[in-house]
Amino acid sequence: MNPIFSALQTSVFEVMSRLANEHRAVNLGQGFPDDPGPEDVRRKAADAVMGGWNQYPPMMGLPELRKATATHFKHWQGLDLDPDAEVMVTSGATEAIAGALMALVSPGDEVVLFEPMYDAYVPLVRRAGGIPKFVTLKPPHFGLSEEALAQAFSPKTRVVLFNNPLNPTATIFSDADLDLLADFCVRHDAVAICDEVWEHVVFDGHRHRPLMNRPGMRERTVKISSAGKIFSLTGWKVGMVMAAPELMRVLAKAHQYITFTTPPNLQAAVAYGLGKEDGYFEGMRADFQRSRDRFAKGLTELGYSVLPSKGTYFLNVDIAPLGESDDVAWCQRLVTGNGVAAIPVSAFYAEGAVRNVVRFCFAKHDATLDSALERLEAAR
Ligand code: GLN
Repeated sequence: MNPIFSALQTSVFEVMSRLANEHRAVNLGQGFPDDPGPEDVRRKAADAVMGGWNQYPPMMGLPELRKATATHFKHWQGLDLDPDAEVMVTSGATEAIAGALMALVSPGDEVVLFEPMYDAYVPLVRRAGGIPKFVTLKPPHFGLSEEALAQAFSPKTRVVLFNNPLNPTATIFSDADLDLLADFCVRHDAVAICDEVWEHVVFDGHRHRPLMNRPGMRERTVKISSAGKIFSLTGWKVGMVMAAPELMRVLAKAHQYITFTTPPNLQAAVAYGLGKEDGYFEGMRADFQRSRDRFAKGLTELGYSVLPSKGTYFLNVDIAPLGESDDVAWCQRLVTGNGVAAIPVSAFYAEGAVRNVVRFCFAKHDATLDSALERLEAAR
């Protein structure tokens, strides 16, 4: 058995969802919305299933989805992408990340990672033979610094795996951060794999800026997007990958031997959805922002110390003011004793663990949030 895999724990999201079910807890752990997603997009998928779109689609994705992806990201992010050479559809963003690492990392290559980070990153980097080099981001800003990047980059750096907006911190990297990172990538001739799945879930009027648009990055960026996050349909697992033709050719080789394709009925529905008018995307953001504000206000009134949330489905609470210094133990008590599931943020660190921050998913109906708040009153 591969020792990397036998040493792995079950994903914290799976563990917490299981505990939430066992203890009939309000599940604010794993990030998925209560909202059922746009009815017209779901209807398109159902119609496509019944209309016979059920055999293998082209390996690179349905032409209509590749085109819709290029048009969508031109409109929203000013990217000029050739749908035939620079867009590919994968079975979720996680497949895209795994495939990109398999395609681009050779044994002994160094991969720069920013912690806290999504739990899949390190095992995938290691399995590809990569050596992780961590940049540790610290609360409350979780921003980059030249010193930290200089320590992590070396002549062996091949890839940077960068998540913006950042899960779990709910922060967004500044323009200065993006320019700094772009400069390091260019100087070290590194490829940036950009997990930008939260790009549409940003608040307070923010507009997402992709790393691919920074100077020198167009040819060295793999941009990864997720229909699951764009349409609140997290189980669909439809990812969109964008990269210059030279990179895309090797990414496609990985994809063809991992999943080969992605369900065509879902692809047809996503192609339709990406063309929805601006109001849909703005409305979605406004709804999530309202839920964020409701939950943040409730927590603050209960005396919790809430960290700012600029995007994603999440907001974080600093438990140090409660006299707590073990986020795992606190979350354990919260789910078993108080009936609320949350995620300890230390699960997202490999080296410089922060032990006093807990992540809650607020992408829920008001009644779910209110019920969680009632239970959280007893947990202070
Ligand atoms: N992206 C989701 C989160 O951060 C989890 C996805 C999963 O369960 N693997 O909560």
